[in-house]
Amino acid sequence: MIPIAKPVLGTGEADAARDAVLSGSLIQGPQVAAFEQEFAQAVGAGYACAVSSCTTALHLALLAVGVRPGDEVITVSHSFIATTNAIRYCGAVPVFVDITADIFNLDPNALAVAITRRTRAILCVHQMGMPCDLRQILAIARAHRMPVIEDAACAVGSEIRLDGTWHMIGRPHGDIACFSFHPGKVITTGDGGMLTTSHANYDRLFRVWRQHGMSSPETARHSAASVIFEDYPVLGYNYRMTDVQAAIGRSQLRRLRPIVARRRALAARYRQLLQKVADVCPPEEPAWARSNWQSYCVRLPAGVAQRTVMQVMLRSGVTTRRGVMCAHLEPACVSVPRRQPLTVSEQAQAECVLLPLFPQMSDLEQDHVVAALQGAIASFKQRRRARVTRFSGSHAS
Ligand SMILES: *Cc1c(COP(=O)(O)O)cnc(C)c1O
Repeated sequence: MIPIAKPVLGTGEADAARDAVLSGSLIQGPQVAAFEQEFAQAVGAGYACAVSSCTTALHLALLAVGVRPGDEVITVSHSFIATTNAIRYCGAVPVFVDITADIFNLDPNALAVAITRRTRAILCVHQMGMPCDLRQILAIARAHRMPVIEDAACAVGSEIRLDGTWHMIGRPHGDIACFSFHPGKVITTGDGGMLTTSHANYDRLFRVWRQHGMSSPETARHSAASVIFEDYPVLGYNYRMTDVQAAIGRSQLRRLRPIVARRRALAARYRQLLQKVADVCPPEEPAWARSNWQSYCVRLPAGVAQRTVMQVMLRSGVTTRRGVMCAHLEPACVSVPRRQPLTVSEQAQAECVLLPLFPQMSDLEQDHVVAALQGAIASFKQRRRARVTRFSGSHAS
């Protein structure tokens, strides 16, 4: 069975976790501090703050830019539901805008017309690791003095060219970027997240909020020579990352370059192999973007049933996923108002299939995935033809 994704984990991670346990410092100790520093350096960020997940990172990012109950935050529906949920945790209203069909990311034209007096922030997503069009999004945001948060859950190691220079996603280019280390992502800590920013004041807020709103972190009290009484000036949360997770994360971070290089090689090879599969549309990388290929999303030929193709591929030993979900179609979001048609988002969910992509994948496995896709589409078309013939036959009799 070929899985959809597979984390790259080895003795490096296992030893790091073991050492962290034996050190006796399990929460927000030296491992977390080192992981933050190394992550900031890896993406070129001024500050990095580790938290328990990307979802909790998004929540804190929205709070930091001042999102309050009743505010509107513009985002895409075409994303994992956590993007929308984080806005709703603030008591704010997600305002969904559509995506463009080429890179499955927020449509800057749709953004421009969605901004109202109630808009408090823009939450854009680098979906599946493909950078969204930050140049246009930031221009619109700046014209409206609107903060931009980047949901970079999938985008560690992705790059974007701005003003003629390549940058890692996460400097950040907006005000705050949020990353995920869930095992389905490119690098993992089991669960975990990171906030990056160039604003010292945001970073300070994250550190207070992630630890119950405590004025002085436990670690400072442990190492203090005199007695310190902490206080709790604001409402906080328990969104901490443990030192065991951070130790694993540091090992993973050292693998980031080779992992992304391998994913890019596999994506290039998919592209070549898919030329043989009629009418299947492989994903496009714009000249200004370099994806980490967190997910490899192909569009099926018109009229070909997604579920049938996925089922036939499953029978051939290939795991797939449907195109990225649309939050607005889920029962959990019935109360979220609709402002704009989300046609392109809905089509992407219904017409696309994600193919397996992980660094350990062999050429043979990749050939098998493409053959299974080709076979599944051919068998679907054949059955459809047979159905049409039977139908017209029964009419004639
Ligand atoms: C995975 C994902 C998240 C959630 O990340 P967690 O670390 O699991 O909370 C948020 N947004 C997007 C776009 C994702 O793909």
